[in-house]
Amino acid sequence: MSTIFTKIINGEIPATIVYRDELVTAFKDINPAAPVHILIVPNKEIATVNDLAEEDERMAGRMLLAAGKLAAQEGIAESGYRLIINCNHDGGQEVYHLHMHLLGGRRLGRMVAR
Ligand code: 5GP
Repeated sequence: MSTIFTKIINGEIPATIVYRDELVTAFKDINPAAPVHILIVPNKEIATVNDLAEEDERMAGRMLLAAGKLAAQEGIAESGYRLIINCNHDGGQEVYHLHMHLLGGRRLGRMVAR
């Protein structure tokens, strides 16, 4: 069974794709929490950060580089933004295909609710 994000990457279900290369794909979150809310996802299925292997180092770096490019593309590089990767239950992960949230376009407040 492929993940919902693999289906998006393969074009089997629609999404607004904003970046794609040989390692990662980025698309707009269906339920945005901020004016800019983009998900940056490895093209290969990796469930969580815990499942990253040495061979994924290039891809993991590419996720960050893509985030920087997308922040510039979206016009939020200077105003600022937040990158979030949720992992497993306590991290609030809902989709078990590794992804980084790029959030910005407004003041985001505290990093974690106390
Ligand atoms: P998580 O809680 O796993 O870190 O975040 C999952 C994110 O995926 C959520 O922000 C949710 O809105 C987004 N999402 C879930 N299903 C879809 C979908 O089918 N399409 C898109 N574009 N985003 C999705």
